[in-house]
Order: sequence, then structure tokens, then C-alpha cells
Amino acid sequence: MSDCLFCKIIKGDIPSLKVYEDDLVYAFLDIAPVNPGHTLIVPKEHFDDVEQMSEEQAAAAFARVHRLAPKIRAAVGALAWNLGLNTGKAAGQVVMHAHWHVMPRFVEDGLTHWPKKHFTDAEMKSFAADIVAALSQ
Ligand code: AMP
Ligand code: ZN
Repeated sequence: MSDCLFCKIIKGDIPSLKVYEDDLVYAFLDIAPVNPGHTLIVPKEHFDDVEQMSEEQAAAAFARVHRLAPKIRAAVGALAWNLGLNTGKAAGQVVMHAHWHVMPRFVEDGLTHWPKKHFTDAEMKSFAADIVAALSQ
């Protein structure tokens, strides 16, 4: 897509700190990192989000994430990593070109996980039933 920021980065029209590239993905440092080595792994083909990718396309991209993330973690001396996949604006997706965030983690690095919510047993059972029904179609 001609007006897509990540398509422009992949083409080289906008500069990036590229760390890896192959036929399928382009990986570069996030301009606003949560930690050293925060890397975005982006399919070269434009998809607005991962829901637009086929199972095969998503599996192939994730295989790259799986291969690259441990090396990114080790390169910055991190102990662990989180994987981020924001899908849709309500989930915090800002750049509408599918991408995985690899975020190296350190002990007591100041990052926290999402706050938890409480739902009643009836609500939880209802959520599960809705999902089971959706997944069985
Ligand atoms: P998301 O919220 O999942 O869409 O994340 C988009 C990410 O892209 C954010 O973490 C931004 O910091 C990052 N970002 C935006 N513009 C650039 C850029 N020019 N170079 C590198 N990262 C960028
Ligand atoms: Zn794009």
C-alpha cells in the first residue's frame, strides 16, 4: 500500500534500523522501544493486520519470529522476551500493517503486564460458551 508507513520502510523510502531481512519478512528496531532491542518483525507483503493473512502466511511469518526472537534476546543480553501482536485499533494497533513486537525483558525492568479484571462465574461460563460455539463453526 503506497501510503503505508511500514511498506515505505520496507522499500527503503523511510529510514529504519534494519536488523534482518529475507524474502518474507523485514525486521527493524522500534523507534519508541520499551526496552533495548525492541524489534518489529513485519511481513513484506502488506496485510492490514494478522486477520487478513491466511493460516499459511501467518504460520510462515511466525516461524521467522520464532527463529529470530531468541537471537534478538541474546544479542541485548536479555533473559526473556514478550511477543506483542496488536490486532485492530481497539487493541492498540497504530500502524495498520501486520507486525510482531519482540520485546526483550530484564529482571525488574519496570514493565508490567495487563491489569486483571474480575468476572462472575456466570459471565465466564457465558464467554466460554460463546467462544466454543464460534470455534465449532
Ligand atoms: P502498533 O501499536 O502495534 O501498531 O505498533 C506500531 C509500532 O511502530 C510502535 O511501537 C511505534 O513505536 C513503531 N513505529 C512507528 N513509526 C516507526 C518508525 N518510523 N520506525 C520504527 N518504528 C516505528
Ligand atoms: Zn504496508
